[in-house]
Amino acid sequence: MNKRWTIDKIKEFVEKNSKSKLLTTEYLGFSQKLLFKCECGNNFEKTFTKFKNKNQRKCDVCQPPKEPN
Ligand SMILES: [Zn+2]
Repeated sequence: MNKRWTIDKIKEFVEKNSKSKLLTTEYLGFSQKLLFKCECGNNFEKTFTKFKNKNQRKCDVCQPPKEPN
């Protein structure tokens, strides 16, 4: 079963599991792109699924996207 995420839980997860901050204040669903602030100061957008499951927890400068295979 999938855990039901709320914006507060996501915020908590982000702060505990990364050095990024969550800027989005409303969670509308797993396909929504959330706005984060990276520790370097850049803002970046990512779905929470990618952030959590694919470990994409920094901006594209600090963590460049992987080359497509
Ligand atoms: Zn960064």
